[in-house]
Amino acid sequence: MKLIHKFKSLNYDKRNNKRISFLILHYTALPSVEDSIKYLCDKKNKVSCHYIISQNGKIYNLVSEKKRAWHAGQSNWLLEKDLNSVSIGIELDFSTNNNNNKFSTLLIKSLICLLKYLKKKYKIDKKNILGHSDIAPYRKIDPGETFPWKKLCNLELSYNPKKVSLMESKKIRMWFKKNKIYSNKNKILIMLNFIGYDISKSINNKHSYQSLINNYKSHYLQKSNTKCSNAKLYNSIEKHFFSLLLTKT
Ligand SMILES: [Zn+2]
Repeated sequence: MKLIHKFKSLNYDKRNNKRISFLILHYTALPSVEDSIKYLCDKKNKVSCHYIISQNGKIYNLVSEKKRAWHAGQSNWLLEKDLNSVSIGIELDFSTNNNNNKFSTLLIKSLICLLKYLKKKYKIDKKNILGHSDIAPYRKIDPGETFPWKKLCNLELSYNPKKVSLMESKKIRMWFKKNKIYSNKNKILIMLNFIGYDISKSINNKHSYQSLINNYKSHYLQKSNTKCSNAKLYNSIEKHFFSLLLTKT
């Protein structure tokens, strides 16, 4: 894997002492990789990433992995609130409104190489390979509904919920019943919270709840399923939740 070190961004600071345990994926939303590198290296923009991958599969390193690049902004996952400190940020040269509106084969090939390398190097759990839309679901939608998460799943580079036995799932359904949690919305929020999502804004705000659901769908149900039925969505979240709760991997 060839890394290009020609461009550097000064938009970084020190990581806290915790170890690197997340890989966060983004898209640039700019027309070209040149524009994006320029933007990410401009001090006044106060944003950066560790890596950016071009449409033709070139991987540029803009910030040392040892430093805290500024890519995640305000974000949350489980108990972690400073994702920039514990992650490596990877930008993909992609924009829905421009010519770079597809994830090219070369870009994905390089991304897979980079993810495999970083996952091994830092012993990163595949559950912690996430999109910006997962850790900031009320502000961000990248890497978007056309990003090939399924492909990453098949390579153990994203979490793929396992089937759980009927017996075990019955027990959890009983638990919901016993605790008087009846509405599907409340069950969904509890399960998404357990998975890692910040649900705080969704509890009393319909619009935010919809953003959260759309971002979950983008990652775990993929494009053809974006308009899936509520039942399919519910089943998918339930399977995900049960799988995390009841299986080891
Ligand atoms: Zn982003």
